[in-house]
Parts: sequence; C-alpha cells; structure tokens
Amino acid sequence: MNPPPKSPSILELYPEQTREAATLLKQAVPLMVRHDIPPNPVHYALWYTYSQGQHAELNRRMDKTVNDFNTFPPETAVKLFREFVIRGELEEARAGQQQVIDLVDNMEGDVSGNIVHNQAYQQSLNQGLAALHEPIIDDLPNVLSDLQLSTQQMQAEQERFLQRLHAAQDEILHLRSQLQRAHLAANLDSLTQVFNRHAFTRLLEQTLASGHEGVGLVILDIDHFKQFNDQYGHPLGDRVLQHVGQLLRDLLPTRAMAARYGGEEFCIILRDCDGTHSMRGFAEQLRLKIQALRVKVRRTDQLLDTITASFGLAMAQPGDNLESLLTRADDALYQAKRNGRNQVFLATPQSPLTA
Ligand code: GH3
Ligand code: MG
Ligand code: MG
Repeated sequence: MNPPPKSPSILELYPEQTREAATLLKQAVPLMVRHDIPPNPVHYALWYTYSQGQHAELNRRMDKTVNDFNTFPPETAVKLFREFVIRGELEEARAGQQQVIDLVDNMEGDVSGNIVHNQAYQQSLNQGLAALHEPIIDDLPNVLSDLQLSTQQMQAEQERFLQRLHAAQDEILHLRSQLQRAHLAANLDSLTQVFNRHAFTRLLEQTLASGHEGVGLVILDIDHFKQFNDQYGHPLGDRVLQHVGQLLRDLLPTRAMAARYGGEEFCIILRDCDGTHSMRGFAEQLRLKIQALRVKVRRTDQLLDTITASFGLAMAQPGDNLESLLTRADDALYQAKRNGRNQVFLATPQSPLTA
C-alpha cells in the first residue's frame, strides 16, 4: 500500500496516546467540577480540548462564557463543540456528531436517573434522621437497616453511572479517531493519495498568511497527456498519475506538501526553502524521476519510456496572495511548455512597482 502523505497536519491535531489522553481528562474533570458542568460527552470533549490548549480562541471563549454566566449554558457548549471539536465542515463529521448527540442523550438519561436516585436517597436519609429524633428507640435497627439498604442502592447506582462515564470516554476517543480519518480522507485525492485541491488552497492560504519567507510553489504538468491517454487508454493514464503521486510522496522535503491541483497537474508547496537554488534542485530531481518512469502496457508487455513533465516555479514575495503566487508559477509553467516541455522554468521575481 502507498504510505500516507508526509504532512497531514490534521493527524498532528490529536497526537497523544491513551496515557496522555488520560492526563488531559484528569485536568479537564476538575475544571468541569469547579464550574458545575454536567459530565456529558460534549462537555468532556470540549473541556478536554480546552486542557490541550491548542485552540487559543476556544479557550478564550470558554473562559469568557464561564466568567459571564458563572456556569456553561448547553447551547454554548454545543456551538463551541461544533466549531472547534467537530469543525462541522464534513458530511462524515455530521454523522459523527449525530453519534455524539445520541451518546449525550443516553448520558442525559443516566444523569436524570442518577438525580432521581439521589433524591430518593436524600428522602430516606431525611426519614431516617427524623426517626432517630423520635423517642421510640425500639425502631432504631429498622431505621439503620433502611439507611444501609438505600446506601447500598445508591452506591450501586453511582458505580453504574461511573461505568457509563468510562464507556462514554472510550466512545469519544473512538469517534474522534473516526473523525480524524474522515477529515484526512476528505482532504486527499483518492487516485494519487496526495492532497486534493481543496486542501492545497487552504494550506497555501494559511502558509502565506503566516509569512512569505522561504515559501516556494512548484506546479507540475504532465506533457502531452491527452495524446498519451488517446494512445494507451485512460486506465494506463491513471496509473501514470498514481506513479507521479508516489514519486511526490517519496521525494517531498520536510514540511513540504504535495497536491493534485486537477487533471494531470500537481502543486507542491515548499516551506523552509532556502532559495531558488534548492527549489530548482528539487524540481529537477522530480523531473528526472518522472522521465525515468517505465510504465508497462499490460496487454502487450511494452515498457513505455515517454512520460515527461514540465515545471513552473515561483518563490513567494511580500504582498503575494494565493492568486498572485499561483499565477506566477503558472506563467512559468507556460514558459516551460513553450520552450519545449520536459523542463523547469523559474518565474522572475515580480518587480515591486508592478506588484
Ligand atoms: P500539455 O503538454 O500542453 O500539457 O498537453 P496535455 O495533453 O497534457 O494537456 P491537455 O490539457 O490538452 O490535456 C490534459 C489531459 O489530461 C486531458 C485528459 O484526458 C487528461 N486527464 C485529466 N484528468 C485525468 C485523469 O484523472 N486520468 C487520466 N487518465 N487522464 C486525465
Ligand atoms: Mg499536460
Ligand atoms: Mg494541464
């Protein structure tokens, strides 16, 4: 099987193993108790994420809610849960959310049951205490045995409740890993197993928003691919795309990200790139590897050695946005095609006057 892409940042979101998860839960629970927040899965997930401290905005809003309301209104909890824990952007996430909601319903049933038992216990305690104040001491053994019985019932009920809580915790961990997988799948191109265009544009926007220094963009387009498809068929064309995806994943430098932009066009975002020289070196290496690809026509056993690609390169400059950087790299790709294909062309830096 193909290895996963090298920079699936979503996988970095919840890296901790069960032990660390337990530590976080230990931090989350006292926070919930302190603010009198019912222990249902939504709150658990929320305060757990709070304890992780990865979303400054979530923590700020949760702090503010507790300050403003002195507790945590359920509608705010659900809203924050959708926004920060589930992120509400995927169909799969919605399905997962439904499961969590079902879980919450179950837990609510349990909590209500527990409250009823608490009330019953309280009542029997009151009766017991009232009886103790009566002068008729004869009844004391009965009163004590009633109290003992209701304490046992109460204890059994608490234990059952605790078990349900543990089960809910396990369920949350399970749902969360399902959601991570769904999120990753929604960002991947299923044919080539590199990121898809949606993930690419989002990551490039994020990257540029946090600085232009060391950011390079490579656009790669397979040469005469239409002709290739016409001659050898679409399925073989698909296999070529898969090979290119594999090469990209194998050769990708650290913190770089590769995506299929569409059709037979791929984009690579380079970060920490120490200049045009290293970007060109990476693209040249890729070009040679693609040129060296040998794809077998299964029907005839013929080995094809005709696959090449052209490359457009651009370094990000201050003031660049997604569109301007893409346009420069795309213009460079066009030049590489015009100059005869199977080559790398580097965009000249944009003059500040025309920026
Ligand atoms: P150039 O060298 O100028 O890039 O020529 P080209 O033929 O590669 O470019 P053109 O844009 O004319 O054709 C792109 C072709 O890519 C057309 C389409 O059949 C093929 N293509 C796009 N997506 C897929 C795909 O998912 N699988 C396969 N097999 N082919 C695809
Ligand atoms: Mg092409
Ligand atoms: Mg193309």
